Amino acid sequence: MGTLSVNQSKLQKRLRRQAGEAVTDFNMIEDGDKVMVCLSGGKDSYTMLDVLLHLQKVAPIQFEIVAVNMDQKQPGFPEHVLPQYLQSIGVPYHIVEKDTYSVVMDKVPEGKTTCSLCSRLRRGTLYTFADEIGATKMALGHHRDDILETFFLNMFYGGTLKAMPPKLRADDGRNVVIRPLAYCSEKDIEAYSELQGFPIIPCNLCGSQENLQRKVVKEMLLEWERKTPGRTEIMFRALQNVMPSQLADRKLFDFENLRIDESAPSRFLDVMNL
Ligand code: SF4
Repeated sequence: MGTLSVNQSKLQKRLRRQAGEAVTDFNMIEDGDKVMVCLSGGKDSYTMLDVLLHLQKVAPIQFEIVAVNMDQKQPGFPEHVLPQYLQSIGVPYHIVEKDTYSVVMDKVPEGKTTCSLCSRLRRGTLYTFADEIGATKMALGHHRDDILETFFLNMFYGGTLKAMPPKLRADDGRNVVIRPLAYCSEKDIEAYSELQGFPIIPCNLCGSQENLQRKVVKEMLLEWERKTPGRTEIMFRALQNVMPSQLADRKLFDFENLRIDESAPSRFLDVMNL
């Protein structure tokens, strides 16, 4: 990449700053960590690697970065693209080859969306691999808009209030997933990826249709942002500002034992003292 214009340099700085903040806020990376950076070949994962490599240079701690891509054997997957790129920037990497594509094709009835099984199988394989290479963190390229989309998907279709956390310990306890781009917007990532000319590998090589529900939610969020600029940012802030006593989950807040506090000063006196 040549010299950056002022706007381009601002974009790079913003992505680096936001990722740095997310990493610090959630203590995503600690001294001595071995971070396995999962690369799909999409814009998000390339940007994440780029930002983490910078962070590695400037951070006051030492940590290792290993890039990992999973070759799921989709027809037409250009196997040479990621190795070539990673060699050119001198990042150590592994390619995990596993034909989950056949499993997905076998298990999912025709016409149904394949992405959720495909990504579950990918995640499982990556968890096992991270454990094998002794990675202490597994970095995924999800950004703020992915997190919000998941939040609304879960609310609209799953009846749960949950998103994708910036940091998560997997159920097996052996993997900690981090999402360094949790504060970054997709728009910025897209622009940065174009600017850097990352060698993008499209995910829909398998011919699968995008999940319709996700598409609808994505469009809804984009439309909100168009009509009310800044709404996405506010909604993301809401995820960091949860008040269990103002919701209705009896597991999160002890509504049952809520009764008057006889030791509290009476409101009458409060009013008199005003
Ligand atoms: S588009 Fe294809 S390769 Fe990508 S997640 Fe969906 S099923 Fe898997």
